[in-house]
Amino acid sequence: MKEECPVIGIKQYQNTFVITTTEGTFVSEKLVILPGPYIDSIINQLNFTIKATYWNMTSAYFKKLDPKIQYPTWFVFQNAVGSNGNQFYGFPSVDWNHPEYIRVAPDFVIQPLTNPNQRTLVPNPQELAYTAQWVKDHMTGLDPTPHFTSTCLIALSDISTKELIIDFAPNYVPNHENIVLYATGWAAKFVPFLGKILTDLALDGKTPYDIKHFQLGHKYFKSL
Ligand SMILES: Cc1cc2nc3c(=O)[nH]c(=O)nc-3n(C[C@H](O)[C@H](O)[C@H](O)COP(=O)(O)OP(=O)(O)OC[C@H]3O[C@@H](n4cnc5c(N)ncnc54)[C@H](O)[C@@H]3O)c2cc1C
Repeated sequence: MKEECPVIGIKQYQNTFVITTTEGTFVSEKLVILPGPYIDSIINQLNFTIKATYWNMTSAYFKKLDPKIQYPTWFVFQNAVGSNGNQFYGFPSVDWNHPEYIRVAPDFVIQPLTNPNQRTLVPNPQELAYTAQWVKDHMTGLDPTPHFTSTCLIALSDISTKELIIDFAPNYVPNHENIVLYATGWAAKFVPFLGKILTDLALDGKTPYDIKHFQLGHKYFKSL
């Protein structure tokens, strides 16, 4: 495991991949590719791309007016109203991160991105305003002024349920049966399980788990 170590080149020599990084060169017979929203930065080097949409998601903290106020982890599902996606979520106050504040965030974006390079660290002001309004209307004991705002990038497919994509590289990529990918979707909760499935696929070429509804490379991977 190496931090701050981007893969900047992948070459194939017969059944071997030679991976160039800023920290040196690595040789392997198998590739497991899961660079999150930056998936194209890797798979473009293998001459294919992914059809994905990118959400630069807003988050903020709101100051407790009453130091004793506490909330659970929560999520609210509501129908969208105009540009307000109207789904919000939040976390309890924690003593290790802005303990005087409570984190609340919108679970939608007004304008998805077409490329992760369009990402900025500046939250969308209208998304922040909708979130502040939610806090004002529904969260007793909080000042509805957003603080410590941030953004977080995720890649999603255009499948309505925004499923994960777990698959081998497409068959026009040489040695595709030795290249395993996970891309798009809400995966944090499943990461250990995904690790198991990806390991099965890389080492055995198959997994006992039923992943056919995630094997969507034929639809979402495109040749460059
Ligand atoms: C605001 C927000 C809320 C979310 N909430 C939830 C939730 O409630 N539930 C849920 O299940 N999921 C949630 N997610 C999604 C979840 O965070 C991701 O699905 C999950 O982190 C994916 O894990 P990963 O390991 O595949 O990718 P990542 O965690 O993105 O890790 C990818 C790694 O690859 C590295 N990398 C990228 N490019 C290269 C390169 N060229 N060379 C080398 N390394 C590279 C990156 O630096 C990074 O370390 C949320 C995401 C966001 C943004």
